Amino acid sequence: MNDCIFCRILAGEIPSKKLYEDEQCLAFYDIQPLAPQHFLVIPKAHIASAAELGEEQAALVGHIFAVIAKLTKELGFADGFRVVTNCGEDAGQTVKHLHFHVLGGKTLGSFN
Ligand code: 5GP
Ligand code: ZN
Repeated sequence: MNDCIFCRILAGEIPSKKLYEDEQCLAFYDIQPLAPQHFLVIPKAHIASAAELGEEQAALVGHIFAVIAKLTKELGFADGFRVVTNCGEDAGQTVKHLHFHVLGGKTLGSFN
């Protein structure tokens, strides 16, 4: 998966500003933040998008959301945050490795 940017970040081939790492996932700051606080959480396993998820990944996705809850508490997202995963062309997914955007630090506008 050498052509996958996020696999290359996981392999240490591309630098990133890491927030948290464990055996299942990595959290790092988005290179082009869309909010005062904007980080990504990715599974270490290469999964192309949320469309590839099945029951076998239920524990992994639950773990990622537990990590998001922990990190947003630690970072002081006291007034809330948004979790987004873009899936496929219509959603504008640019990196084909499952990732959860976590956005906060301001009142977020509505989206469609
Ligand atoms: P998508 O549009 O696929 O949902 O989001 C991909 C996100 O990955 C974008 O917000 C983009 O800024 C971020 N991104 C792309 N390449 C890199 C990179 O090399 N490093 C970091 N930290 N973020 C990246
Ligand atoms: Zn990948």
